[in-house]
Amino acid sequence: MPKPVVAIVGRPNVGKSTLFNRLAGNRIAIVEDRPGVTRDRIYASSEWLTHQFHIIDTGGIEVGSEDEILFRIREQAELAIAEANAIIFVADGKEGVTPADQEVAQILFRSRKPVALAVNKVDNPDQINNIYSFYELGLGEPFAISAEHGTGIGDLLDQVMADIPEDFEETEYDEDVIRVALIGRPNVGKSSLVNAILGTDRVLVSPEAGTTRDAIDTPFSTEDQDYVLIDTAGMRKRGKVYETTEKYSVLRALRAIERCDVAVLVIDGEQGIIEQDKKIAGYALEAGRAMMIVVNKWDIVEKDDKTAHKFEQEVRKQFPFMAWAPILFVSAKTKQRVHRILEIVKQNAENHALRIQTAVLNSVIEDAVAMTPPPTDKGRRLRVLYTTQVAVKPPAFAIFVNDPELMHFSYERYLENKLRSAFGFEGTPMRMFIRQKS
Ligand code: GDP
Ligand code: GDP
Repeated sequence: MPKPVVAIVGRPNVGKSTLFNRLAGNRIAIVEDRPGVTRDRIYASSEWLTHQFHIIDTGGIEVGSEDEILFRIREQAELAIAEANAIIFVADGKEGVTPADQEVAQILFRSRKPVALAVNKVDNPDQINNIYSFYELGLGEPFAISAEHGTGIGDLLDQVMADIPEDFEETEYDEDVIRVALIGRPNVGKSSLVNAILGTDRVLVSPEAGTTRDAIDTPFSTEDQDYVLIDTAGMRKRGKVYETTEKYSVLRALRAIERCDVAVLVIDGEQGIIEQDKKIAGYALEAGRAMMIVVNKWDIVEKDDKTAHKFEQEVRKQFPFMAWAPILFVSAKTKQRVHRILEIVKQNAENHALRIQTAVLNSVIEDAVAMTPPPTDKGRRLRVLYTTQVAVKPPAFAIFVNDPELMHFSYERYLENKLRSAFGFEGTPMRMFIRQKS
């Protein structure tokens, strides 16, 4: 089930972060955690009653001149409109309505996205009169809240949830359509690659693609497979807001990862691997997506016959938990090897959805155990009793044993590798659950 996205917008200091922290569940993506930089928490999962949703905090506006702030707020509102299914607009009940509030309210109103107006810092019931002037913003009934004390938030969320349309995810795709996302930091060549992929002869882009206002994905097909490129609108058309800052680009990557089957991590072959590449890969890994690594701009890399091999070793070193991800060296500019991207994506997607028969699975595990028996621990030996596949996308296995405490990480790795070599799970992560046999 896709979860709706709720964005929090508003001027600096109205209490957006306070509200975000109150709503945030435990899965928070921290974008910047370099020393000296505020931890910028922008994306979290949350729930209210039976509703689960994601929240994004578009905040982080530095204090600057009035004009700068206004510019930033506009940018923020546009980002929220583009990314979110509903918006919580936070204003400050102590300060009253400001011109910047009016400006944002107008942008939000025109977007026709559901907006709930939260008037924050109403800490006591006797301050409730503060909210009436906010009717003038034209966003409907203001909700008095205190993010700090946690009051009024239930009513606010009731409204937000009620306003999200049932079919908020405008595009649900069939199970057999492969959802692909190109992810990577700005300027590695994602847009160029999207255009190169869609430009090859074998690809048929539906003529309606991208014509509707909200369309952010690009469906296309090859002779034998339907695909959809997730979140390509910003890449193909370059909206104003998109990728202007690192933070927004990470946010976009997170959303695309959330919605895809296969993540294509694009790296700049000329610049090499940097920290941000690893972070983005980490998100995709955590989300359990199939993955391949595309090293782009190979045309401008000075090379001899060892360069690709060396680069590959570097990739393996920098991404140690993704030894299973295929690597491809391409050029969006000359189109060298671009046609192979979809071939590999398709293979990855198949492996990601692979289901192994229980009998076959157990015979592979039994052979592996016979070949290298589990080590003993203080005189006790792990016994592997039974294995079953519990999920796909990614493939997940429950291994039932006499005592999970006796399972060592290295032995688990060994079994995983045996499954990989027996069934060819190239391009997909795998999950292993060690369970007590009851
Ligand atoms: P942001 O810049 O919009 O993210 O605002 P913050 O969440 O950082 O809050 C700005 C200031 O307002 C901080 O000093 C908060 O402690 C304070 N604040 C936030 N929520 C409330 C509230 O409900 N009541 C009061 N009195 N202060 C609040
Ligand atoms: P994005 O921000 O990741 O979408 O990157 P773009 O597709 O906008 O590309 C950033 C810059 O790199 C542009 O100037 C492109 O022309 C250039 N670029 C992209 N791919 C290649 C490539 O394969 N070779 C070369 N030489 N330049 C490329």
